[in-house]
Amino acid sequence: MQRATHPAGVLGQAALRMGLLAKKAVEVRMFPSPPADTTNSQANSQTGVTGRPLRFAIIGAGLSGVMAAIKLQQQGHPDVVVYEKAAELGGTWRDNSYPGVACDIPSHFYSYSFAPNPAWSRQYSPGSEILAYVKQVAHDHGVDRCIRFSEEVTRCAFVDGHWELATSRHRHDVADVVIVATGVTHQINVPSFKGEDRFLGDRFHSARWNHDVPLEGRRVGVIGTGSSAVQIVSALVSRAGALTLFQRTAQWIMPQENAVFSEQDKQIFRTDPEVMRKMRAGIARRFIERFSDAVIDRDSPQLRVIEENCRNYLETEVRDPALRERLRPDYQVACKRLVVSPDFYQAIQKPNASLVTDAIECLEPEGVRTRDGRVHPIDVLVLATGFRTDRFMRPMQVIGRGGRALDEAWAQRPSAYLTVAVPDFPNLFMLNGPNGPVGNFPLIEVAELQMNYALQLIELLRSGGYRSVSATESATAAFESSRIEAAQKTVWTTGCASWYLDDRGVPATWPWPIAAFYEALRCPDLESFELL
Ligand SMILES: Cc1cc2nc3c(=O)[nH]c(=O)nc-3n(C[C@H](O)[C@H](O)[C@H](O)COP(=O)(O)OP(=O)(O)OC[C@H]3O[C@@H](n4cnc5c(N)ncnc54)[C@H](O)[C@@H]3O)c2cc1C
Repeated sequence: MQRATHPAGVLGQAALRMGLLAKKAVEVRMFPSPPADTTNSQANSQTGVTGRPLRFAIIGAGLSGVMAAIKLQQQGHPDVVVYEKAAELGGTWRDNSYPGVACDIPSHFYSYSFAPNPAWSRQYSPGSEILAYVKQVAHDHGVDRCIRFSEEVTRCAFVDGHWELATSRHRHDVADVVIVATGVTHQINVPSFKGEDRFLGDRFHSARWNHDVPLEGRRVGVIGTGSSAVQIVSALVSRAGALTLFQRTAQWIMPQENAVFSEQDKQIFRTDPEVMRKMRAGIARRFIERFSDAVIDRDSPQLRVIEENCRNYLETEVRDPALRERLRPDYQVACKRLVVSPDFYQAIQKPNASLVTDAIECLEPEGVRTRDGRVHPIDVLVLATGFRTDRFMRPMQVIGRGGRALDEAWAQRPSAYLTVAVPDFPNLFMLNGPNGPVGNFPLIEVAELQMNYALQLIELLRSGGYRSVSATESATAAFESSRIEAAQKTVWTTGCASWYLDDRGVPATWPWPIAAFYEALRCPDLESFELL
């Protein structure tokens, strides 16, 4: 089995010689230690609390921003402000309140490493529980007190060694370090349809659910077939009078039961956190082995097992052969983000459900007209049409060193050194920035690793005598070319259209094993940074 090239090649031979990367990062066979506590011991040390005091601005109070504030606090940085454009924290889990919204990663893995939660109700938690969890953790750590709600950062400029911030409330602030935690699924993708102004029903995006609109007994249309659409269909089919799913592309569905944790289970988790820690470690290991590492090797045996599961599910669950063929994707499993569901096929076969595969022509006052000329009557139209995942922190205006605009740096497409830093944008670190791990890997874990990495660079600013740290152009370019080469061997390039692909058709993702991500972010290679 051929492995994708490891990024060791771009991490700098000098750094390896200097021992800055403790292990030679070739062919990492060992699993990293993701499960128990992602906190890097170096980042976690309370050394240097007496160094230069730094002021931090964190932009965004989703899971990443809250975690960043906690970690800064734990490192002894008292001067932290979090700007959140919404009136509440929670990001994705605040914005997505649609019926059926849930995580598709086991909850004990989709939790902060430092805040295990004995109260998860099921193996895969509903969104409302995740929202309650992040609010509780923020409250427990006193983070909610440093959040400025309903205040969007509109501009960030690096001037005279500091970041100057401007907000929607006309506030001006200054920070030494900016942590960008603005999310990847924050900017919604809203397609426009001919005739949409004439449509007389209600229409909204799945991430902007209008809870005032009644659904019981009504004719509901759902556009899209990603994870949100599938969850909505399953949740609504028993409430709607008629449910129509408009499918452009069929999806592979991974059958996944969702076990409930009993009161007894929760009591064990509460009284013996070690059980939870071990469970998290086990889930992480299995998840990485069976899934995350499978998707970066299109020929891997694990991928064949996933494919078999999905095919069997389709064959055995969908009775009508014609419907089965319309639901059958024509691309390799996991080429698009894999959809996980315990009951989608059952839902779409209910008598009040229908699947429409003809392309949408336009909206009419009474519903949706498809290219075959049929008009499908709809009262409520849900756009489960995803997100503009390449926007990242934009439309915020970001001006780096020498007046360089981020829009200019990213004119072709977003890029970053090791997903975290952009050349010419010193002392600015991104969480869930460009080209991070995907393939259903928990982004909460990704953000923790990125923050631990950033903390080590921040330490150089606090006690290392440096005023600014920024990734070099050469390290970023080398990383990028190595990433692009490795991406060719992944399942994401096997011939499907997906939001993973950039404008050139290159997957905008981490193309190496997850262990390589842990390893690359374990300790910064200082050769790849300009320190002033
Ligand atoms: C329906 C759905 C299901 C998902 N399921 C999973 C899953 O199962 N597993 C998984 O790993 N991931 C999943 N994701 C991805 C999810 O986005 C991440 O897991 C995680 O929630 C990201 O957290 P974040 O804090 O990085 O970003 P977000 O949650 O997007 O938070 C960003 C925050 O920044 C704020 N913000 C943005 N711009 C500004 C600005 N200029 N000024 C001030 N504030 C700003 C936003 O209001 C928001 O609160 C899912 C996403 C969706 C939409």
